[in-house]
Amino acid sequence: MIATNGLVDFHCHLDLYPNHQAAVQESEDAGVFTLAVTTTPRAWPRNHELAQRTRHVRAALGLHPQLVAERAHELDLWDRYLSETRYIGEVGLDAGPRYYRSFDLQKRAFQHVLQRCADTGDKVVTVHSIRAVKAVLDHIEAYLPSAKGKVVLHWFTGTKGEAKRALDLGCYFSVNAVMLMNERHASLVASLPLDRLLTETDGPFTKTGDRPSKPSDVTLVLEGVARIHQTTSSSIAAAVRDNVRRILLPSGDGM
Ligand code: MN
Repeated sequence: MIATNGLVDFHCHLDLYPNHQAAVQESEDAGVFTLAVTTTPRAWPRNHELAQRTRHVRAALGLHPQLVAERAHELDLWDRYLSETRYIGEVGLDAGPRYYRSFDLQKRAFQHVLQRCADTGDKVVTVHSIRAVKAVLDHIEAYLPSAKGKVVLHWFTGTKGEAKRALDLGCYFSVNAVMLMNERHASLVASLPLDRLLTETDGPFTKTGDRPSKPSDVTLVLEGVARIHQTTSSSIAAAVRDNVRRILLPSGDGM
């Protein structure tokens, strides 16, 4: 059996598995640092409650861009819970055909979220950017400069030029196994510096074999990234751990 202790899944929807509590416990038992993202502020209290009992699971307060059309009114609730956590997500923008109609509303919500994060300071934000990388980076640049918070771009599918811009803005990237199966996205991952890289599953939305991925499946991401960077999985795992440590340092603490 592969040792999973100390691995990192920086974007996973533990509350969307058939048994939320069991999914949290499995991450905890495996010793995988898991950022349990949420899609609606209503999901926060239960996620927070379960994560608080663990050493390895952290809950993030989110409002998914694909849900903003129906749930923009939950921003009040999001505001109310903000002081309870350092971790924010899933938030961001989605300009795919199904969500484009709410894009203006999404932008207003995302701006609000980033500004509130900048006001309170020291937040760690996991961001969705499907078909909207330029707008996402414009928002981050305008509303959450790197001195005010840390941004992790989840499942980033932008161009190398956009990745360069994101790096200049101080962003990190959380990479999953599905990205590595796509030639263009894998080549983008190859171009990222290892000191900005994190691993994720985005479970249960990705599959490993024919079951939903779980946090310990990040071993596959490590193997894939190691192949791309012509090094070992354990050295990638160590780099990811260092990156998490750096992200979790309070802002203004140097590095
Ligand atoms: Mn997600």
